[in-house]
Amino acid sequence: MNLDSIRKKYYEAQYWSQSELDSYQNTALTRVLRRASSRVPFYRDLYQRSGIDLESITDVRKLWKIPSVVKDDFLRVGPQEFLSQDFDKSQLKASTTSGSLGRALTHYKNTSESHNALVGFWSAFWTRGLTKGDRVLLLAAPYFDIFPSGLICEYMTVQATAEQIRQCFLKLQPTAIIGATEAIALLAKDLHDLDIKKRSSVKRIFPFGQTLGDSLKSMIQLGFDAEIFDSYGCSEIGWIGIECGSHSGLHVPGERVIVQISKLGKPDEPAQAGELGEVILTSLEQNAMPFIRYRIGDVARWENTPCSCGRNGARLVSLEGRVQDLLLSTQGNLISPGAIQTDLAYGQDDIDDLRVIQVAQNQVQVFLVLKSDLQESLVSHVNEVFTRQLGEVDVSIDLVDEVPRDPSGKRRRVYRAF
Ligand SMILES: [Zn+2]
Repeated sequence: MNLDSIRKKYYEAQYWSQSELDSYQNTALTRVLRRASSRVPFYRDLYQRSGIDLESITDVRKLWKIPSVVKDDFLRVGPQEFLSQDFDKSQLKASTTSGSLGRALTHYKNTSESHNALVGFWSAFWTRGLTKGDRVLLLAAPYFDIFPSGLICEYMTVQATAEQIRQCFLKLQPTAIIGATEAIALLAKDLHDLDIKKRSSVKRIFPFGQTLGDSLKSMIQLGFDAEIFDSYGCSEIGWIGIECGSHSGLHVPGERVIVQISKLGKPDEPAQAGELGEVILTSLEQNAMPFIRYRIGDVARWENTPCSCGRNGARLVSLEGRVQDLLLSTQGNLISPGAIQTDLAYGQDDIDDLRVIQVAQNQVQVFLVLKSDLQESLVSHVNEVFTRQLGEVDVSIDLVDEVPRDPSGKRRRVYRAF
């Protein structure tokens, strides 16, 4: 991949004026709606039932009139209904959400959409100072498997032990770290506790996946004297916001996604600036499986004062829906719940949903929603994951029909309760 083309394409878009952005989004939105309503059975039926006159939706402010959708809508109808009839499913690239909010969703992109997503993904870091010659440590993200040329990258999976990650760090001496928030925090603590001086090589840190709360941020800052760029994204649509050097909210890549924030529980009513509400996403670059007014299940609010960096548009703040608590191993080490969740679910097609509660340091309750009966091999897998991640702990497995959502609505699938 040519890094210069990444830089050029996305660098300009982030400095568009509001009217340039509006004009671009209006045109793109009209195209997205027209395609989806004519080529995707799910949207065609939905819009016909709602009686909406799509011809009247010519600008982004009218997008509120379009019905919203949730992940369960896609799961209910299945790929034949939510994929565009322009594409042959066997030619599409399938990805699966982590299942962190309810059941996992398999979603699809064609080749050029996959490429665009990858370019867009790297542009988030590229526009925040990552440059040729940087050495990048990538931590704990299963879908991170392609790297642009010009960067020196090392990739560690969620299965990697603290020792393996530390050895990789020492060998690479990264200038930047991209990865799961918790994994970065744990590495920071590890390097700090061992007083490893080479950690000063790190200049930029890009955490994602969980809210960068004060405790995780403090852990990262304890280990690294680096600039931390918080970001927000999802597997379905890619990155949705990233901080600039002013660190006062997340700038949205408006050329690729329209972000709406509705009043809580009222997806058709916009929240006021500063009011906490629900995040609703419309992708402008995905035609194979369009996401239009997609309620992702996170909460946020808008900050619409001008940003000193010169980029236009409102910024996302307070993504409070993604807080997780670190688990505690029998050795007393803090363990990432995100890593355990991914480790448990990755490649286990039988698992529809799960919840893990660490009720004591040596005791874990696992609730599983399965597609079929519980197989001995899955029991072994679950036990193996916890032995590896937490040490010798008692694991109880209960089969349930549904994992209830937290009363808070938070995306907690794996957490500590003591
Ligand atoms: Zn800014």
